[in-house]
Amino acid sequence: MLSDPRDFPPLQPATIAVTAGRPPHEPDAPLNTPLTPASVFVAGGKREYGRYANPTWEPFEAVLGRLEGGRALAFASGLAAVAALLDLVAPGEVVVAPRHAYLGTLQQLATLEQRGRLRVRVVNVAETDDVVAACDDAAMVWLESPTNPALEVADIETIAARAHAAGARVVVDNTFATPLLQQPLWLGADIVMHSATKYLAGHSDAVLGAVVTQDDETYDALDGQRRLMGAIPGTLETWLAVRGLRTLHLRVERAQLNARSLVPRLQAHAAVSAVRYPGFGGIVAIELEGGAAAADTLTRSTRLWVHATSLGGVESTFERRRRWQSEPATIPDSLVRMSVGVEDVEDLWADLGAALDELTR
Ligand code: PLP
Repeated sequence: MLSDPRDFPPLQPATIAVTAGRPPHEPDAPLNTPLTPASVFVAGGKREYGRYANPTWEPFEAVLGRLEGGRALAFASGLAAVAALLDLVAPGEVVVAPRHAYLGTLQQLATLEQRGRLRVRVVNVAETDDVVAACDDAAMVWLESPTNPALEVADIETIAARAHAAGARVVVDNTFATPLLQQPLWLGADIVMHSATKYLAGHSDAVLGAVVTQDDETYDALDGQRRLMGAIPGTLETWLAVRGLRTLHLRVERAQLNARSLVPRLQAHAAVSAVRYPGFGGIVAIELEGGAAAADTLTRSTRLWVHATSLGGVESTFERRRRWQSEPATIPDSLVRMSVGVEDVEDLWADLGAALDELTR
């Protein structure tokens, strides 16, 4: 973990998560930045209008910026952040993009290509040579690592070096890894993007997105675009996300511990034909011997595991991804993406194992 030069002496991520972006330690000051519902500010300062700035956004951006090692901007959602980033690509330019990624990202890319706005060159992000070969004459290399829901992992450092040599900028969707397990900017990426809806906020109660960059020109372009397009974060959402960020390290550590404990048990289970796990993080994907029907039965048969589409919250959720028509056909029909929460792992296994046992009867 590389620390941000602004943190001197260097601080560990857990300390940054807890302490960054707080009001100054002054008598009677609140420890937490209060929620400020304001559409307008008295003229003459830096804020002026609620579409340009809000003090409630600032601690969220401060904590995330320090954890990723850049300057952060919050957006209305992860997909609003994706749209802002793809808007940086000039008309007709090439974007190298993953074959598997969050389906909303893939749909944005496909829609923009259909409209003739940009050209998409699809790659498997885990095949470094293929990604590097695709970088020639590209304007942007879009990586998601690990990918949703296939859990492919990209060699960000090698790809970023080669993409830069070819003149392309590199974006990494770091939603699954979080800055605690992967810091793309320190690996050479130009921009990090998050669905803060997931681990960063962490409690399944806010939709929020973010971008982080070290490059001032890129930061200004994205800030300008946020003001103009209006995909600004909600005040309550950023406040909730800050509250979530304060325990990010505890939640990610526990979810990862739980996932690592569940993976070998899943691998050994007769109802499971394949387990995908990148070795880190709290997301696991399994395929089932009994196909899509077995997967659907599983997602209806548990008491603790909730059948739900999102991920990265404190609670364990799972979903058969191909229930969505637009999920790529290369994702196996029976693949169930599991977001392992922070509950007691033996309770989680008792619930999941019993539902899997039923499938083998
Ligand atoms: N990126 C990834 C990896 C995601 O999983 C998601 C949502 O599931 C998004 C982006 C989109 O974010 P949001 O739902 O906050 O718009």
